[in-house]
Amino acid sequence: MPATEYKQKAVFFDRDGVLNHLVNRKGALYSPQKFEYFHIIDEAKGVVSLVHEMGFLAIVVSNQPDISRGKLKQSELDKMTNMLFEKLSIDDAFYCTHDDNNDTGCRKPAPGLFYMAQEKYNIDFNKSFMIGDTWKDVEAAKNADISMILLNKDYNQDLENVIRVKSLPEIVSLINNGIK
Ligand SMILES: [Mg+2]
Ligand SMILES: [Zn+2]
Repeated sequence: MPATEYKQKAVFFDRDGVLNHLVNRKGALYSPQKFEYFHIIDEAKGVVSLVHEMGFLAIVVSNQPDISRGKLKQSELDKMTNMLFEKLSIDDAFYCTHDDNNDTGCRKPAPGLFYMAQEKYNIDFNKSFMIGDTWKDVEAAKNADISMILLNKDYNQDLENVIRVKSLPEIVSLINNGIK
C-alpha cells in the first residue's frame, strides 16, 4: 500500500490563553468553567481569516480535563466551541476531556489530537504549525514533529529553545516567511 499523501496544511491553536482569556481566581489562572467566563482575546479575531488566506485550516486542539473532573459541563464547553466557530470562523476543534489518570493518548503533551485532525482533514504536519502557551503545547508539537510557535506570557518564561511571538498577529509574518 502506498504511503498516504497528505494534502492540507493547518495552523493548530491551543485554546485557553491563546484564543480566550484565562480566568483569574485568587491570583491563579484557570480555564473557564462556565460559558459566562469565556472571553475571546481581541487579537485572535482577525488571525483565523489571515490563516485561511494563507491556505491553512485553523484547528483548535485543547485539553479540557475539567470535564473528567466534573468541573465543566459538556453543554458549557459546547457553547464555548460554538462561539469559536461563530466569532473566529475556526474549521474544527478537537478536545481531550480526559485527566492524567484516564487519558488515551490525546491529552497534550501526547500528540493524539493532532492525529485525529490529520485523519479527518488529511493534514501534512511538515507544512503545519502549532500555536500555544504552555510546555504541554511545546511537547505535543514536538511529539508530532510540528513547528511550534509559543505565545509569550509571563507564565512561560521558563521555556527555552522555542520560537516566541509577543502577540498572535505576529504568527502571520512568521509563517509567511517560513520559519522552517
Ligand atoms: Mg493554553
Ligand atoms: Zn485524552
